[in-house]
Amino acid sequence: MRVFNFSAGPAALPEEVLRQAADEMLDWHGSGMSVMEMSHRGREFMSIHEEALTDVRDLLQAPASHRVLFLQGGGLGENAIVPMNMLGKRDVADFVVTGSWSQKSFKEAAKYCKPHLAASGETANGFTRAPKRSEWQLSDDPAYVHLCTNETIHGVETFDIPELGDVPLVADVSSHVLSRPLDVAKYGVMYGGAQKNIGMAGLTIVVVREDLLDRALSICPSAFEWRIVAENNSMYNTPPTYAIYIAGLVFKWLKRQGGLKEIEARNLEKSKLLYETIDASSFFSNKVERESRSRMNVPFFLADESRNDDFLAGAKERGLMQLKGHKSVGGMRASIYNAVPLEGVKALVEYMKDFERTRA
Ligand SMILES: *Cc1c(COP(=O)(O)O)cnc(C)c1O
Repeated sequence: MRVFNFSAGPAALPEEVLRQAADEMLDWHGSGMSVMEMSHRGREFMSIHEEALTDVRDLLQAPASHRVLFLQGGGLGENAIVPMNMLGKRDVADFVVTGSWSQKSFKEAAKYCKPHLAASGETANGFTRAPKRSEWQLSDDPAYVHLCTNETIHGVETFDIPELGDVPLVADVSSHVLSRPLDVAKYGVMYGGAQKNIGMAGLTIVVVREDLLDRALSICPSAFEWRIVAENNSMYNTPPTYAIYIAGLVFKWLKRQGGLKEIEARNLEKSKLLYETIDASSFFSNKVERESRSRMNVPFFLADESRNDDFLAGAKERGLMQLKGHKSVGGMRASIYNAVPLEGVKALVEYMKDFERTRA
């Protein structure tokens, strides 16, 4: 029996995708082998790779100015790979810190440059808001401005993406990429690990504006130098082939669902139902400012924290899994990525209401 999986990552995948992968496990399209066993430069895998790149460009509506790269190293790897690729002759980069992930990006960048804290979303209640552009205090000539557009742990999403003129915006989109249309043209760079909303761990996606490919520092490892990866069509070294294949199946699934507009409508419905349930209750609460509430990751707290273990045990009995909040924040967190169906959220809110009624 499949459960409803609210894990923050690695996270739920569409059942159709898992079934197709299972069907094709031993013999992909008459090749007599698994995708895992193929040469990455052979005709079969090349077709999988090209189709995945075409489909993700299509879903993202990526303009011709931007390259889509398949890399490895995850979101945290990019915290080093971004400065090594983006600093050029500059030694300052600006950071808008809205939660744990952008805080990590800020800290790691200090190994390569002088990071400048342009704005912080930290309040007396922790990270609960995305500072507006008018609050950002940019330095004079930063190499780029870094932003995490969805903070997975704190549940803070940035909806208002400003125009920064000549300064490239670099965004960690790990946990909300493909959850709704994003205007790729506004970003110099977007990056994200695949294991939240795209597919399985092992693949990292980087979308980079072509004119930014000449800024890499000489210390940047060749396998992570975006210009080299781009020139080799993400085949400079062996790419994470099976993770690319799974991502490709997810891209096809998204297209069958009607693309990102349709997915956004579903994600809105799911998140609205959950936040409305929390707000209507005196037992559950969410601390994030309304306009910054993430549609993908919903942290919430019980009024009586001594009931946390009860709540989780009861959820498990109903097949509602991985609801425990991140240890740095506590409480609960429901991650409701694309692959978590509306029925899963309905089952969760029914359970929350029952719990409040019978045991609160
Ligand atoms: C999960 C996550 C990361 C870390 O990704 P890894 O692949 O584990 O390195 C970074 N940023 C965000 C926003 C995340 O959600």
